[in-house]
Amino acid sequence: MKYDLHSYDKYIVSFSGGKDSTATFLYLLENGIPIHKIELWHQDIDGDGDTFFDWEVTPDYCRKFAEAFGVKIYFQWKEGGFKGEMLRENSRTAPTHFQMEDGTIGKAGGTKGELNTRLMFPQQSADLSVRWCSSYLKIGVCSIAIVNQARFRGIRTLVLSGERGEESPQRAKYAIWEKDRADRRNGIKYQRYVDRHRPIRDWTEEEVWAIIQKYRIRVHPCYYMGWGRCSCKFCIFGNKHQFASVAHISPAQFQRVADYEKRFGKTINRKCDLWQLIKTGKIYPHITEKLKSLATGYNYNQPVIIPESEQWILPAGAFSDSCGPT
Ligand code: SF4
Repeated sequence: MKYDLHSYDKYIVSFSGGKDSTATFLYLLENGIPIHKIELWHQDIDGDGDTFFDWEVTPDYCRKFAEAFGVKIYFQWKEGGFKGEMLRENSRTAPTHFQMEDGTIGKAGGTKGELNTRLMFPQQSADLSVRWCSSYLKIGVCSIAIVNQARFRGIRTLVLSGERGEESPQRAKYAIWEKDRADRRNGIKYQRYVDRHRPIRDWTEEEVWAIIQKYRIRVHPCYYMGWGRCSCKFCIFGNKHQFASVAHISPAQFQRVADYEKRFGKTINRKCDLWQLIKTGKIYPHITEKLKSLATGYNYNQPVIIPESEQWILPAGAFSDSCGPT
């Protein structure tokens, strides 16, 4: 099957606020896709619950990024967020909420499916049935939001995501183009044509930073503090240095997460609990008070596009150990 990047009515970029989804958006600009056809979609991990697992500043960083480029942004989330899904006890997964074009919030799901109990963190696995955070809080939420909006019927939509083969052997096997799971091009009542594109699957990290430098993007503050990957603050794949750094900048949040390890009797890391893990980790030396308060606050107040009067600098976390999903 032949795919043509320029043949779509709508381009949805799955936008985490990290370097790879940023590069994916910039790829569209590089290829001349008009900005009015592009939407950034951010799946908010903590949703409408307390900030439990993610960086406090991420939603506002994404909002300010969209403002800087004059591109639309929509948020989607699972009711109760990460914590709600983790604490499921003989219950169904919660409904999904999504911002719509007219400013209202849509809601779907949560009424069918099996009753289930989690009471554990997602597992460090490539298998999305046990690594439920990716499937339930990101992939599924995005798909539900497309399927339940009539505006995607009768048009051609391209969903873009920023997985890169360098990150893991599993990701290297992902298709660059394929039919998206929300597709229903042969539907009888209506058609919904949705493809998936992973344009940077074969890009190197050098290429990602090069395009970010070209557009003079000030990336998420976690990169300047030393993180190689902007994922959930407490990403289950984090190494000892990441968790030591997180415990340093967010001690109360760290304590809450560590307390759940005790309650569940199951740890995030397969070998030891979080308190043991951080004993051998080194706090990133680039963490400053200013960066820490920016990353752990709810208001992103820096220009996302760095003015010419200021030098673009490669963040401390670039080319470091990324520790992302397998
Ligand atoms: S960043 Fe880590 S913890 Fe967050 S959804 Fe992805 S794999 Fe799960």
